[in-house]
Amino acid sequence: MLTLSKVFAEQNELVPFISSYQNELETVKVLHTLPAAKQQRFNELTHELLDSLDDVHDLKACAERSRSSREHGNAVYTKRSKTNESDRRESLLLACHFYTQAILQAENVHEELCLGYANRGMALQDFGLYKEAYDDCECALEYGYPQKLQHKLIMRQAHCAWQLGDVRKLREHLSWLEQQQLNAGYVNQLEQLQEQLTKLQEQQVSEPKEELTSEQAPSLQILARNHKIWNSPGVKGRHMVATQSIQPGDIIFKEQTACFVPLEPGLICQQCAASVLYAPIPCPQCHQQVVYCSRHCRQLNEQIHSYECAGYRKNLFTMLGVSHLALRMVLFYMQEWLTELGKGSNVQEAWKLLMAKASKSYDWPGASQGLLSLCMMSHLDKAAAEELIYYALCANLLQVYLHKCTKFYEQLEVETREDGHLLIAALILRCAGQLLCNGHVSDTIVLRFQCHTMESKLWRAPFHLSLGQMHKFDSVALTTALNLPYLALCNHACAPSIRLHCDGRAVSCLAAQQIEADEEIFNCYTLDYRNSSCAMRQAQLQQTFKFRCKCIKCAGSKPDEIFLSFNRYRCEFCAHIFVPGQREEFKWWESESNSAINCSKCQATQLFNWFGILRRTLEFCSEQQQRRKAYKAFKELDTWLLDYHSLKLHLAQQLIAACLTAKADGATFDDSDYKQLSRILDYLLAGVAAQHGADSMTYISHLTYLMDLAAFGKYKCSSEQLKAVRTAINYLPTDTKRIFVNYYNDFIEQRSAANA
Ligand SMILES: [Zn+2]
Ligand SMILES: [Zn+2]
Ligand SMILES: [Zn+2]
Ligand SMILES: [Zn+2]
Repeated sequence: MLTLSKVFAEQNELVPFISSYQNELETVKVLHTLPAAKQQRFNELTHELLDSLDDVHDLKACAERSRSSREHGNAVYTKRSKTNESDRRESLLLACHFYTQAILQAENVHEELCLGYANRGMALQDFGLYKEAYDDCECALEYGYPQKLQHKLIMRQAHCAWQLGDVRKLREHLSWLEQQQLNAGYVNQLEQLQEQLTKLQEQQVSEPKEELTSEQAPSLQILARNHKIWNSPGVKGRHMVATQSIQPGDIIFKEQTACFVPLEPGLICQQCAASVLYAPIPCPQCHQQVVYCSRHCRQLNEQIHSYECAGYRKNLFTMLGVSHLALRMVLFYMQEWLTELGKGSNVQEAWKLLMAKASKSYDWPGASQGLLSLCMMSHLDKAAAEELIYYALCANLLQVYLHKCTKFYEQLEVETREDGHLLIAALILRCAGQLLCNGHVSDTIVLRFQCHTMESKLWRAPFHLSLGQMHKFDSVALTTALNLPYLALCNHACAPSIRLHCDGRAVSCLAAQQIEADEEIFNCYTLDYRNSSCAMRQAQLQQTFKFRCKCIKCAGSKPDEIFLSFNRYRCEFCAHIFVPGQREEFKWWESESNSAINCSKCQATQLFNWFGILRRTLEFCSEQQQRRKAYKAFKELDTWLLDYHSLKLHLAQQLIAACLTAKADGATFDDSDYKQLSRILDYLLAGVAAQHGADSMTYISHLTYLMDLAAFGKYKCSSEQLKAVRTAINYLPTDTKRIFVNYYNDFIEQRSAANA
């Protein structure tokens, strides 16, 4: 099979060296104006690559795997307990897990797909997830559920509609059922639901409001006129300045993007970017890579996905990184750009018109996201020749892909225009260049082991965790790459004046500190001054953003003071206090290569025996004896790791997580365990607040430990601490927040009320 790197290497040979950069259009033109023989080979290579990526799965094997998973699910479901509620719940979740597997494995085999959905719908309904169950029935019908059994699904949908208080749907389904020949059991169910319908109508339950979905929200909300955009050409370009004093926590703007890509397949909804917890609805055609949280989201993304499905099937996008998001920008904004293009008679003129228009868009109040995106900064002009050619080849590949594998060109009607393909490739290249220095990556809290979403002990009800399970949401993951052209206006400083809260496709920008009138508002493009040394930051800023930072943290006399304070060791031989000298020596415990850490005074290589001892005890935290050893070993770290040392914070986190996991698995804790854990937790939270800030996702992920200990009634929380927990929860995206709020209300609120 051809690989991307092989093809690109050969294509690179055919293309002349680009010695001076003019713009994206001229760059892609180089790939299309080769001598005839070379051009032919160049084009062949692109096509051969795309053809070779086609992999059709063995549908018979898919069907077999799917059937086997579904049968596992059925076995668990039929054996579910009718008497013991928690056993019953466990079986339901396990069955759901198998049914989801069946749905994913079925790929495009409709006979299996419809049965997988029908069965999952049944288990979800039993568990109380009516909205998801309703959608699953709809999917089962869509994929051809046998006609003579359809009344079963419609009855289930009617039941879900009743539970959801949806009068219109309930009425609709009941009137369909009334037309059918039903057996006595179903007639009975029908009559009961008819009664429920009458009741609902009498209660005059208003029609459920169409949920205000994210697609209806404006792309940019300037919620307070506390800032403006200044332009100082040649100096710092466009930037954001406060027009009045802004208090910490005040909102500056909220931006919602049309374009994002999930960074990992299958975790979040392709349309709304919410985590897909219980019942993913996959696109059956692209090998389980694309999932939705609902049919509604699937429908909203239908058109865009029709241009991407083949690419996902070929696994093309994961190879291309930032160019995938660039492609998505073109897919989303092209129609609008074309409208703005005017009647350029050739591609040259069209490009000129578009760029002229775009260069002004930041100065227009209310310019659309598509236009703002066109004039984001790009450093392709400063890129090394091989970097430039790489992104140009990516853009070319994607343009050929669109033409060869999708109907994108038909809908655009640019094919009639000569050189239309050059324009598309140039725009993809332009967006990629812009995203390299303006793209935003957002993080969120996720379950430690994503595959355990349906772990049967985790949930006591939909979105309600069982006691002692909160700590499993202690991981922070980068989930999306987003295009946010308004946020991109903020310049960089190593101590940002804003903080960002991501919620699906939306980002709220809040003041992280007091910002005075006329002060510039800064974002941070790299790790901040607490988490990287000045040299590390400058290297990254230079490489990616092509500038040297002169912010107050970098220009100060001790730019690394805070960073180093998280990395101070005491020498095991001469007791001298030192910090490592090399970049790779920081966070050595996270990397594979074990670089030696030497004392800066006596040069002795540190042994770190204490590290091994503590790490070993972590594996046996279910035994009280071992936990005692671990607490003791942790205490002894004080000698070698100073203050809030990064490694000590890391080990504190590992220790608490290991203990809470052991407890969730049935270990018995006594008061001394809780006392020790509370002490370590206090240290951990204070350290993480100092290193990352008490509004960071990392901090909130560590609050899950506090929430578990507080839920057990074993952590003495002051009312201020509880208030801080509630505030922090508010920073979470909607879907995760729901789980945290429920846990707080279910287990902590009551306890604190009882104690008061
Ligand atoms: Zn969604
Ligand atoms: Zn697809
Ligand atoms: Zn700086
Ligand atoms: Zn020493």
